[in-house]
Amino acid sequence: MTDTQVFLNGEYLPSSEAKVSVLDRGFIFGDGVYEVIPAYGNKPFRLEEHFKRLNNSLSAVRIGNPYSEAQWSEIFNKLLADNTGDQSIYLHITRGVAPRDHGFPPETSPTVFVMCSPLKPVATSLLNKGVAAITLDDIRWQYCRIKSISLLPNILLRQEAQDKDATEAILIRDGNMTEGSASNMFIVKNGIIKTPPHSDQLLPGITRDLIVELAHQHGMACEETVITEEELFDADEVWLSSSTKEVLAITQLNQQTVGDGKPGPVWKDMYQHYQVCKQQLREQS
Ligand code: PMP
Repeated sequence: MTDTQVFLNGEYLPSSEAKVSVLDRGFIFGDGVYEVIPAYGNKPFRLEEHFKRLNNSLSAVRIGNPYSEAQWSEIFNKLLADNTGDQSIYLHITRGVAPRDHGFPPETSPTVFVMCSPLKPVATSLLNKGVAAITLDDIRWQYCRIKSISLLPNILLRQEAQDKDATEAILIRDGNMTEGSASNMFIVKNGIIKTPPHSDQLLPGITRDLIVELAHQHGMACEETVITEEELFDADEVWLSSSTKEVLAITQLNQQTVGDGKPGPVWKDMYQHYQVCKQQLREQS
């Protein structure tokens, strides 16, 4: 593993030297929130939207934002400058270090950690063939809107998918599709793109919101609506979206083909629109 520079509580240091107390509430309780922001041409993508979601997560768990947007940007730019190529910024804020007790400690400053890692392009073979997914019960809590670092249910769900040679687990709650273990979900039926509306049952994905925006911009029919499990199985196309996987076709669902088993025409159009957005950011001075 390369010893890249990271940011921890005001300092820039090699990752091997970045240390957090065992009493950090992130370590003890998973008491914190995070963000993952892709960067193209060393520029963070959809930064305002990520800041907004970060603030929503922080206020939902009652942790104050330790930095202004300008201060965050300075940290990101310093870390991004160490590398070239596409990168992803991971930022992580916990409630800080305190004697172990469930209630909030009276005076603790948050722990702040930021690192950048290379963002590998999605493999061409996956783009051409699509990926497999399985459906699983959404066993998570009621505040999925918060980008919490407590990811045990998501980890278990993703592993169950991987154990069955699938890339993603599509989660079903009360007969409806919510999202993936680490992605949002879309279906296409009769040319109409559909995705579940924002709610406490799913993370408001930045990529999801961009896809909805792009659909409207390009005159593609798009609805934010409840999607039942039956509608999922009856879809012509199924897609997942996330900052690192962008928009990816799911062509196998519970070992059955979706549509004709190949990434569909609506996905192809959306994939192109998404690539143009990334390119526009790269070209911005
Ligand atoms: N849902 C969950 C549960 C996630 O963990 C993620 C991010 N990996 C997403 C959706 C997608 O969000 P974004 O587009 O902001 O990466």
